[in-house]
Amino acid sequence: MKISVVVPCYNEQESILLFYEEINKVSEGMEQEFEFIFVNDGSSDHTLEYMKELSKKDERVKYVSFSRNFGKEAAIHAGFSKAEGDYIVMMDADLQDPPCLLPEMLSYMEQGYDSVATRRVTRKGEPPIRSFFARMFYKIINKISNVDIVDGARDYRLMTAQMKDAILAMPEYNRFSKGIFGWVGFRTKWLEYENVERVAGETKWNLWKLFLYSIEGIIAFSTAPLVLSSVFGILFCILSFALIVFIIVRTILFGDPVAGWPSLVCIMFFIGGIQLFCHGITGQYLSKTYLETKNRPKYIIKDTNI
Ligand code: UDP
Ligand code: MG
Repeated sequence: MKISVVVPCYNEQESILLFYEEINKVSEGMEQEFEFIFVNDGSSDHTLEYMKELSKKDERVKYVSFSRNFGKEAAIHAGFSKAEGDYIVMMDADLQDPPCLLPEMLSYMEQGYDSVATRRVTRKGEPPIRSFFARMFYKIINKISNVDIVDGARDYRLMTAQMKDAILAMPEYNRFSKGIFGWVGFRTKWLEYENVERVAGETKWNLWKLFLYSIEGIIAFSTAPLVLSSVFGILFCILSFALIVFIIVRTILFGDPVAGWPSLVCIMFFIGGIQLFCHGITGQYLSKTYLETKNRPKYIIKDTNI
């Protein structure tokens, strides 16, 4: 029985050694064989040097290094493609995904689950505004998408090789893991834990990046926004019909004094805004389709020891 640990790393020089120490300690207490796949996602610091050093010291350590920063989703994909274990687990390098949960996760796999996923029940230590938007995002996406996307779910997840292969078989370029994991199905056990703060270094996400990421998630796993433009269209047809009737009746009853250009301008601006908004939605889907059809590689590997 072999477990592959996939770790995406982007500028993690402060935490990578701490992470290795921790996972090494956990692996010593377990009877399974391990391999650690560190994916260097185009770091500009000494992350890669640390990976190479670790791989010299410990032959279970493998590394894959990208030619530039391709994003966490690409790093996960690369790690999965290289993983040879019977079970695969992915963890962040910053110890926000506590490796000490691993034995417990494994015990559930033995009970017949295909996957054990984790969710944090608190968002302690996170800026309140970030938590607020995160909650809103989960509410919205679960309403408009068929895929179950769990609030507070982390990417920390243990799964069988079969499930990993199912994930790799999804060829899309715009990868939204939280959706992909839900989409492939399989029996999943959810473990809950309190939020842990990053040991060292800084988060790679700011509010704007998170916003773009959430749009990506919605576009990738729901077509509801497209329906929205039709709904707006119908709504405004009904409204304008009512207005026409109103104006005809008023003209017949009170004649036609020239007035009302300010309201006309307001209405034009309003409808114009809605039209642009709907254009934008269509454009989002079109741009994603455009990127998919280009069929570009999801990442480029520059250096590896596998
Ligand atoms: N990460 C990555 N590529 C990126 C951004 C992040 O591989 O472009 C990795 C990062 O090194 C870390 C994990 O993804 O191991 C989670 O990132 P981070 O801790 O910054 O996110 P947060 O925990 O704040 O959501
Ligand atoms: Mg983190």
